[in-house]
Amino acid sequence: MIVLLQSTLAESEQRALAGRLEAWASDHGARLVGFGPGWGKCVEVDLAAGAEEEACASQVRQIDGIEAVLTASRPTHHVAGAGREPQRIEVGPARFGGGFASAIAGPCSVEEHDSLLALAWQLRRAGATALRGGAFKPRTSPYSFQGLGRPGLEILRSVSDQTGLPVVTEVLDPRAVELVAEFADVLQIGSRNMMNYALLSEAGGAGRPVLLKRGMSATLGEFLLAAEYLAHAGCSRILLCERGLRHFDPTVRNLLDLAAVPALKRVTHLPVVVDPSHGTGSAALVPAMLAAAAAAGADGFLVEVHPDPRHSVSDASQALSPEVFATALERASKVLEACDRRLARPAAETQPV
Ligand code: PEP
Ligand code: MN
Repeated sequence: MIVLLQSTLAESEQRALAGRLEAWASDHGARLVGFGPGWGKCVEVDLAAGAEEEACASQVRQIDGIEAVLTASRPTHHVAGAGREPQRIEVGPARFGGGFASAIAGPCSVEEHDSLLALAWQLRRAGATALRGGAFKPRTSPYSFQGLGRPGLEILRSVSDQTGLPVVTEVLDPRAVELVAEFADVLQIGSRNMMNYALLSEAGGAGRPVLLKRGMSATLGEFLLAAEYLAHAGCSRILLCERGLRHFDPTVRNLLDLAAVPALKRVTHLPVVVDPSHGTGSAALVPAMLAAAAAAGADGFLVEVHPDPRHSVSDASQALSPEVFATALERASKVLEACDRRLARPAAETQPV
């Protein structure tokens, strides 16, 4: 189970509380697995074999200074999953978890219908099982291309209906959740919005699976609690996505934290997706990190692919060509097989001639 300490506690109070938790654990044959500072105020507790999780949780909830105890056994919507069967999420042909990993691929931004349709068929042939593309773009500058908006969603839906690839697309604003959910199969919450709690609550209640990207400076504890907001709003199909962290070296756009994959899997049953595109910012680095993500245990991959990478309206430097994507995904598929897992593939070709 995961124990959350009250966020208002001073450091000395936190230490005292950790002592009370230690005492409870040693009385009950349990073990505190400190997440270290990176986990913020979450503490993982390994219970004794055979211990009844709910009974333990209700005892721990009584300890002064505990904010909440998340358990795997009680409400199905909590994100805590130590010891719980890893969740498998299926969206059309895409399967995340349960021995399968799926590739979500497509351009950074939706630009135009016909080229996206042709690209989607190429992606499908390469083994992708979902289509990505932003219709609403979170841009650093208000003067940069902001996305096509609703027409972009219409293009995605049309391409999806023709190719059978489900759509993963970002929603930026709580007021747009209903609109985006009408067109998308999976709602994406971007890195910049991981802590937009109003958006998390709205998106979590939309009845769609949600792909939640890790904030670029978020601890794993904060990431899990953001997912908990989605769960709390009713979302039972949450995909966590590692997409790289802010760091000190401008040579690589972001520092892709692949250790987050096994670290998250220790404490949550949710599938973990890796985005090597934003995670590196450079097309030259994406194939290697895609293979590394497969080796690290990722249940899915989010990859930016553009028919003409140099002319992509956003994130051109990290976009792969469809050909490079196909080769890179084949290699990742071999890595998955070496790790006793498989790439979920779309059914045989049905492209109209
Ligand atoms: C994206 O996936 O296009 C995107 C904007 O990603 P991130 O939120 O990780 O920057
Ligand atoms: Mn992008």
